[in-house]
Amino acid sequence: MGGTHFADDDLAHEATGDGDVGRRDVGKMEHGCEHYRRRCKIVAPCCKEVFPCRHCHNDATALGDRHNICRQDVEKVVCVLCDTEQPVSQVCVRCGVNMGEYFCDVCKFYDDDTEKGQYHCHDCGICRVGGKENYFHCAKCGSCYAVALRDNHQCVEDSMRQNCPICYEYLFDSLKGTRVLNCGHTMHMDCFAEMVDHNKYTCPICSKTALDMTVHWGMLDQEIEATIMPPVYRYKVWVLCNDCNKVSEVDFHVIGHKCSHCNSYNTRSTSRPADLSGSSSPLTTDSS
Ligand SMILES: [Zn+2]
Ligand SMILES: [Zn+2]
Ligand SMILES: [Zn+2]
Ligand SMILES: [Zn+2]
Ligand SMILES: [Zn+2]
Ligand SMILES: [Zn+2]
Ligand SMILES: [Zn+2]
Ligand SMILES: [Zn+2]
Repeated sequence: MGGTHFADDDLAHEATGDGDVGRRDVGKMEHGCEHYRRRCKIVAPCCKEVFPCRHCHNDATALGDRHNICRQDVEKVVCVLCDTEQPVSQVCVRCGVNMGEYFCDVCKFYDDDTEKGQYHCHDCGICRVGGKENYFHCAKCGSCYAVALRDNHQCVEDSMRQNCPICYEYLFDSLKGTRVLNCGHTMHMDCFAEMVDHNKYTCPICSKTALDMTVHWGMLDQEIEATIMPPVYRYKVWVLCNDCNKVSEVDFHVIGHKCSHCNSYNTRSTSRPADLSGSSSPLTTDSS
């Protein structure tokens, strides 16, 4: 990885005085792993082995004796430039480099690539990316969301403290971007895109429509208008709307059934509701 190395006697006269600022930047962005740019490796608190980061550790142990590192438990790091093992801190005690341009003392987290906009959210208890100014912590959902969603999303308690319904990875501290659906449920952005690619537009958890379908519903309206059903199929059916949870009685059509309350085509056929089915239903009790 072609890092910048320097002789020990250089350190003696440059680690103090004016050289400090330049010294801190030595090797910046030149070291790290597929997950982070950083100038230290961590000593795994569990198995005492040295890894570039906790994800590398978790991946490496995934096939055998699987165990994950709890980020706060990391106590020791090894400077990549001078190979010195030392307690967690931003600046190497021996050679004086920043082992991470961004450093969080709570998460024992280092990253040289500050373009990611890392910040520590005290409510989440972890470091996040994307710039503190672009996110707010929603106490009800229990996670940081984009500011555009402030007072503008369906809160689902601990929505992010679940596995992605598509790939089953735990969402809360996933390195991948996440998306909040209209219903408030969450999944990875990539997993969402893949779902839409497969022409699936509903939330896998609650079946509600996951994105704005106004245009698509308009197209269905036109298609239905243009497709007259033969007389034998001209009858009414009951549908339950997955979006507003109401039932309506609509004309049967092969293309789709539109909810007469909210105009969604995200409906499924249902039986005639008990309270409308007349006195024969055992479920109906006369309250008058
Ligand atoms: Zn890594
Ligand atoms: Zn060092
Ligand atoms: Zn942190
Ligand atoms: Zn947060
Ligand atoms: Zn919320
Ligand atoms: Zn996923
Ligand atoms: Zn949902
Ligand atoms: Zn509806």
